[in-house]
Amino acid sequence: MSEVYKTFSCCIPISGYFRSVIYDLQHKEFWIISNTLCDVLKKDFFSDIEIIENANQEIKTGLIQNDIIFKCQIDDIPLFPPLSTEYSIPSKIKSCILDFKNAPTFDLEKVVTQLDSLGTINLQIRFLEKPKSEEVINILSQFDNSLIYSIELIISNNILDLESIIKQFPRITSIILWNCEKCSIKSINNCSVISTNESFVDVSQCGCIEKELFMCSQDNYIEALNFNSCLNRKIAIDCEGNIKNCPSCSVLFGNINNVSLDHALKHLEFQNIWMITKDMVDVCKDCEFRYMCIDCRVYIKNPRSLTSQPLKCMYNPYISKWKGEDGYIPVEECGTYSLIDGFKVNKDTVDSINTILWK
Ligand code: SF4
Ligand code: SF4
Repeated sequence: MSEVYKTFSCCIPISGYFRSVIYDLQHKEFWIISNTLCDVLKKDFFSDIEIIENANQEIKTGLIQNDIIFKCQIDDIPLFPPLSTEYSIPSKIKSCILDFKNAPTFDLEKVVTQLDSLGTINLQIRFLEKPKSEEVINILSQFDNSLIYSIELIISNNILDLESIIKQFPRITSIILWNCEKCSIKSINNCSVISTNESFVDVSQCGCIEKELFMCSQDNYIEALNFNSCLNRKIAIDCEGNIKNCPSCSVLFGNINNVSLDHALKHLEFQNIWMITKDMVDVCKDCEFRYMCIDCRVYIKNPRSLTSQPLKCMYNPYISKWKGEDGYIPVEECGTYSLIDGFKVNKDTVDSINTILWK
């Protein structure tokens, strides 16, 4: 029997325009590699020589030591099936964002019942103004017997006694405090507490694309392959009770005071946006980070095109440079946009830029 190498099923080689990435879904890490090595790692099995020819001995050792590839007998290959990429979760709505100024303007008890019946597991509660602490406790108490698994609280500093609130409401997994003197991150009883010096909750800050925000996990990878990586099974209710896909969306699907969440999400337009995957989005479809990156559908470069690239992306996948790095130029200088065809890269221009940049 002959020995060959194989990529672990949880390590997914993803090609981009100029370079590729191995998504290590088990260790939640990623590794940058060349496109030619990526093509080798995508094969069912490959030889020692194929790795050396497309990388070098040092990279090969790194791939073995970091549990990316392993040696096996060629006859044993069928014993290592690929990872299933079928997306299946029981929740009709996975996450919900609730905005408040102070006391709710709608029947919160009814909302909790509706979220439970939709199978919602993650909740973000945002206080856009400075509420009274009794109001916060009253709102949190409504979820005491709910199926919600984790609550993220966004609130102004100096409203709550953090230790006691975390103890009283163990569903709170993170708290983001605005209006703090200094930025910091700490953990209180396994709850992460992030202090920011923002002076208010600025919804327009959502949708930033930074490498620090990438999430290289199996759940995110499979969701991004099949659905929109931000809005799939998400629902939001703003301070006035308006139902939306997310708080920054301008399209309303009724008001919770007279429309049920179940009714709102049955609206075709509500779910259409869930179907926009990164593989459909201009520029992102050529980016090696597309299955670990959030896909903002609100702040986009061309609001007339549903599949336009996120506006706040600071990465150019055609030259593999982030804004601020030497040689960075915006995506717009690498091709042309049209409403019909979306973004078309100018291959000759990009090839000559890359020859200079990466020689
Ligand atoms: S679609 Fe954009 S604005 Fe809305 S929640 Fe996602 S990242 Fe934020
Ligand atoms: S090009 Fe798209 S996938 Fe790549 S980093 Fe930017 S927003 Fe994310």
